[in-house]
Amino acid sequence: MNLSNGRQYLAIPGPSVMPDRVLAAMHRAAPNIYEGDLVDMVAGLRKDLKAVACTSQNLAIYIGNGHATWEATNTNVFNRGDTAVILATGRFGHGWAENARQLGINTVVTDFGKASPIDLERAEAALRANPDAKAVMVTHVDTATSARNDVAAVRRLMDDLGHPGLLMVDCIASLACDEFRMDAWGADVMIAASQKGLMTPPGLGFVFFSERARERSKASDMRTPYWDWTPRNEATWFYENWYGTAPTHHLFGLREAVTMIHEEGLENVWARHDALAHAVWAAAEAWGKDGAFRLNITNPDQRGRSVTAARLSGNDGTRLRRWTEFEAGVTLGIGLGMAEPGDPAGDAYFRIAHMGHVNAPMTLGALATMDAGMKALGIPHGSGALDAAAQALASAQSAGQSAPRPVAV
Ligand SMILES: *Cc1c(COP(=O)(O)O)cnc(C)c1O
Repeated sequence: MNLSNGRQYLAIPGPSVMPDRVLAAMHRAAPNIYEGDLVDMVAGLRKDLKAVACTSQNLAIYIGNGHATWEATNTNVFNRGDTAVILATGRFGHGWAENARQLGINTVVTDFGKASPIDLERAEAALRANPDAKAVMVTHVDTATSARNDVAAVRRLMDDLGHPGLLMVDCIASLACDEFRMDAWGADVMIAASQKGLMTPPGLGFVFFSERARERSKASDMRTPYWDWTPRNEATWFYENWYGTAPTHHLFGLREAVTMIHEEGLENVWARHDALAHAVWAAAEAWGKDGAFRLNITNPDQRGRSVTAARLSGNDGTRLRRWTEFEAGVTLGIGLGMAEPGDPAGDAYFRIAHMGHVNAPMTLGALATMDAGMKALGIPHGSGALDAAAQALASAQSAGQSAPRPVAV
C-alpha cells in the first residue's frame, strides 16, 4: 500500500506551491509584445511589486533566478577592486560573496556559522575594519539554516558608525512571507525571485534599489548591457524592461500572484506565515521531548517564518524525507550545506517549507505526515506534536494575528 496518490505537496523551500489561479493565468495563448494586455499590465505590476517590498523607489526585473540577481547587484553596484562586507548566516551569503569574488570584488566575509543570526558586535568589528566598503550584504532569511536577521538593526549600526556603504539584502526566501520594509528599514538594495513567497515558477529575479544606490551605480565599471539596471528601471520602450522579449507567461502568473497577496493584505500574509511557523515550532518542541528532534535555530525571534531547518540523528533526516515523499506525498527539503564531521552528507538535517501558498491544513498535514513517518520508521519522538500545532494555530487566530476572512452568505 502507498499513501502518496492524491495531490503532491512540495514543501522544500522553492519552487513553492503554485496557486491554481496563477497556473490558470498562465494558461493562455502567446500575447502581443508590442501592445495590448501584456504591455498595459506591466506598469501596475511594477507598482504592486514595490508595495510588496514596502518601497517607492526603483525596480529592475530580470529573466533569471536568484543567482541572476546576485550578479545583477554586484555588477551594478561595484567597481572591480571595491570591498564588500558580507555578513553570512548560512549558505546564501557565501553564494552572493562568491559571485562578487569571481567578478573581482574584494570580499570580506564574516561567518556567523550554521545556527545563528548576525551578531552585532562582530558585525561592528567588520564594519570598523572596512570603513571604505562600498556595500554590506545581508541575507534576511537564510534558506539553509532558517536564521532570520534584523535588517533594521544592521542599518542602525551602519548609521551609528557613520558607515557610508550601501545596505544590500537578499530577501529571496522571505519576501511576501516575513515582514520586510525596505524603505523604513533603510535597505538600499533588495533582491527577490519569483519561485518562493511570490508563488510563481522560477525564472524571474527582482532587484529593488534606492535612489542612493541608483546614483552611486553610475560610477560602476562592471555594468554590462544585459545587467545594467538603468533601462530596466526607466524603460522608454517595453522591450527595455527585459532587454529583449518579455517573459510573457511568467508575467501573467506573477500578476495573479501579486493580486492574491494584495487581496489578502500584506500584513495578513505575514501573520499567516507567522502563525504557520509557530505551529511547526510547537510540533517540533513536542517531538523533541523524547528523541533527537531539534530545530536548528534555538531562539524563535531569530527564526524565519517561511522555512524551518531541523535535525534528527544519524541518517534519520533523509529517511524521514524519503518516507514522507514516497510513501505519503509530502516532499520536504534537504538539509542544505549542513554536512559536519560524522555526518558528511548532512543526512540528519531536513527542512520544512511553510512559504507562499500554504494554509492550515497544508502545514498541519505536513506535520501529521512527519509524525506518521517517525512512527512508521521507529524514529523516537515525543508525543502531542499535533495537539501542540493545532493549539498554536488556535492561539494565533484568537490573538488576532490573522483576522478571520469575511464569510460569504
Ligand atoms: C533560493 C535562494 C537563493 C537562490 O535562488 P535561485 O533561484 O536558486 O538562484 C538565494 N538566496 C536565498 C536566500 C534563497 O532562498
